[in-house]
Amino acid sequence: MGCGTSKVLPEPPKDVHLDLVKKVEPYTGYKTDIYKHFIKGDGDGIKSAIPSPPCHVNPHTEQPEPRKNRVAKYRAKFDPRVTAKYDIKALIGRGSFSRVVRVEHKATKQPYAIKLIETKYREGREVCESELCVLRRVRHTNIIQLIEVFETQERVYMVMELATGGELFDRIIAKGSFTERDATRVLQMVLDGVKYLHTLGITHRDLKPENLLYYHPGMDSKIMITDFGLASARKKGDDCLMKTTCGTPEYIAPEILVRKPYTNSVDMWALGVISYILLSGTMPFEDDNRTRLYRQILKGKYSYSGEPWPSVSNLAKDFIDHLLTVDPNDRMTALQALKHPWVVTMAASSSMKNLHRSISQNLLKRASSRCQSTKSAQSTRSSRSTKSNKSRRVRERELRELNLRYQQHYNG
Ligand code: ADP
Ligand code: MG
Repeated sequence: MGCGTSKVLPEPPKDVHLDLVKKVEPYTGYKTDIYKHFIKGDGDGIKSAIPSPPCHVNPHTEQPEPRKNRVAKYRAKFDPRVTAKYDIKALIGRGSFSRVVRVEHKATKQPYAIKLIETKYREGREVCESELCVLRRVRHTNIIQLIEVFETQERVYMVMELATGGELFDRIIAKGSFTERDATRVLQMVLDGVKYLHTLGITHRDLKPENLLYYHPGMDSKIMITDFGLASARKKGDDCLMKTTCGTPEYIAPEILVRKPYTNSVDMWALGVISYILLSGTMPFEDDNRTRLYRQILKGKYSYSGEPWPSVSNLAKDFIDHLLTVDPNDRMTALQALKHPWVVTMAASSSMKNLHRSISQNLLKRASSRCQSTKSAQSTRSSRSTKSNKSRRVRERELRELNLRYQQHYNG
């Protein structure tokens, strides 16, 4: 959920002074997309719930290109050292600077994920460095484990544990029910991972539902934190203050927006946003206009109106309120959040009101309204650059896919 799937650098609101230190450009789409032959939503990939895009058509034969050929095409993007050891099976994810594929270790038949990052461009190099620096240091049950790394002049291939249970929201939709207890169980696992990271002096800086993956499709699956491309690891002797402006707009903490030096409590703000979404299917801060969105965040202005909020406990709202606190000094730490009465009591309870229908309907409503507003924006602002039209088209397509998934879910 968010403005899009890319990590973006916030554009400064007019009335807020932002002195940017490091720029993280959004992914610009297909112009230089060497991955255009990759398969999305491949039948046996984890995103199989997403309707597959139309088959590639060979312009000479007008016949759909056989899957075998497509696989061969993207396999060619891999270094021979990688393909000597791993069979490339399917594309399972796309990120701002990366592609993630499911692979199988040839000797052991063990499945893994390989994240391929283009390091030709500065942004890709920076993301890759951050990610490797963190992944090499961490070992925790709720954090994706790095297995090995292959590096070439222009690409880095990170072999990682494979999470086959899908992203957090896909699971909520598929599950058919969602209670406060389910929310606290998810949050407990994420908080455990975040507490561990913070103890090591690591700040994730891009916590959002897309970066929280279920390890396997079973009901009892653990959840794992991924994507450390924006993470910051404190070096020995450093103070714990960070200055870089980065993140995903809807999840960015107010202190980052005003360019104050900040700490790992920015992750706790993002967890407040995630908790709000988990319980309602809506965003606490949302506006198509970045300036207005940032104003809402800076004021810490959100409400509990509309469904399903009347059915949500006051303790849950108290939990969110103690995370979406504008002053980072008043915000709960991961340890405090783990000890919050809502988490402690709810995670141990047995039956709770099912919030699923409202959450899913809100997600659906949001997806279609964003699709509509994207369309009207497109017609009124026809002079926009090709680049932004492309990223808008990507977003539109994603929203259409999301919409379809919800409709399929409700129509049985
Ligand atoms: P980016 O940094 O470009 O956002 P991510 O690391 O978030 O890239 O990966 C993009 C997507 O790929 C994720 O949202 C997820 O759907 C999928 N993905 C990433 N890592 C794994 C993994 N280890 N197992 C399964 N899927 C993964
Ligand atoms: Mg990501």
